[in-house]
Amino acid sequence: MTTLKPGSVIGILGGGQLGRMLAMAAARFSYKVIIFDPDASAPAAQAANEHINAGYDDKAALETFARRCDVVTYEFENVPVAAAKVIEAVTPVFPKPNALEAAQDRVAEKNFMNSIGVETAPFSAVESLQDLNDGLAAFGGSGVLKTRRFGYDGKGQAVLKNASSAEAAKAFADLGGAGLILEGFIPFEAEISVIAARGQDGATRCYDPARNVHRDGILASSTLPSGLPPETETAAKDAAAAILAALDYTGVIGVEFFVLPGGKLLVNEIAPRVHNSGHWTEAACLISQFEQHIRAICGLPLGDPARHSDCLMENLIGFDVTRAGALAAEAGVYLHLYGKAEPRAGRKMGHFTRITRRPSDQNSP
Ligand code: AMP
Repeated sequence: MTTLKPGSVIGILGGGQLGRMLAMAAARFSYKVIIFDPDASAPAAQAANEHINAGYDDKAALETFARRCDVVTYEFENVPVAAAKVIEAVTPVFPKPNALEAAQDRVAEKNFMNSIGVETAPFSAVESLQDLNDGLAAFGGSGVLKTRRFGYDGKGQAVLKNASSAEAAKAFADLGGAGLILEGFIPFEAEISVIAARGQDGATRCYDPARNVHRDGILASSTLPSGLPPETETAAKDAAAAILAALDYTGVIGVEFFVLPGGKLLVNEIAPRVHNSGHWTEAACLISQFEQHIRAICGLPLGDPARHSDCLMENLIGFDVTRAGALAAEAGVYLHLYGKAEPRAGRKMGHFTRITRRPSDQNSP
């Protein structure tokens, strides 16, 4: 394990808000950051030392970037694997590109989970309308049809509940007519996620599971504690640790679960990066998920993931951001804005974490 010295350069593929928050954590450890993103107005570039504004298929730009960085990481899971491999030939990439391969295709992702004994929703690959109809019949007439690749924030999916054959055919066509997956519809009681980290030495640390609420397929809020029994929380952390070990992973991962009535857990998906449902860690833990990721990829010891407070994190989506002034005036609120110029429907503009209970409140109702 090599520990990067202060002043070393971290490269980040992707320049969204996650890259921005990683860059801020890196600065606190005296590391420099270069963002690689094809978008000239990438929010992360405002908080980094430099921005290479080039495409993920620009081999020469990727090689130049790689030569200038002591380590490279990524902040979104749809980084082309080929781009990560071009960089890996020059400088270390963490998490290693096998994590991208496992997370980019929902079928490969579920096969991987099941191969290591981690349960998922039942699923079948859909390449034809016949496959879809067979799958629906197998899952009792209902399911969630999704694109295998490039889906995010609920985009690229359709819920089919006792759908007519015309509705099924329309959803199939709307989603592109191939490269799809049908998942059984899961009547979950709760959705939780575990943010976990693994160091280059194999040490693993998990944050407490957050209970998540999605609206229109986009994360709306994360609440800690989850309110679930300790054995369910432990099982979720154990599953996250097993995934990290199986991938020989370095860095922070987000693992999303469905919790069934009775407590059984199914993994919905993994994100090989820092995760929106871990933003609360910057306010309710001494070591945030962003710092933890920087520690892992730079070969520093992992930090203590203990939570010092209960909290509620809410995303500010679109025009929710107009609440920022009022939130800034509230005691116990930690506000984070992403530097995006224009609010638009569905666009993540910021988030805040409200501390709801501190250890000193223990005896209060
Ligand atoms: P995803 O993009 O796969 O994370 O899906 C976004 C949201 O849609 C999830 O957080 C769930 O709320 C819901 N969802 C996704 N897949 C299923 C499923 N198989 N059964 C029930 N709800 C689902």
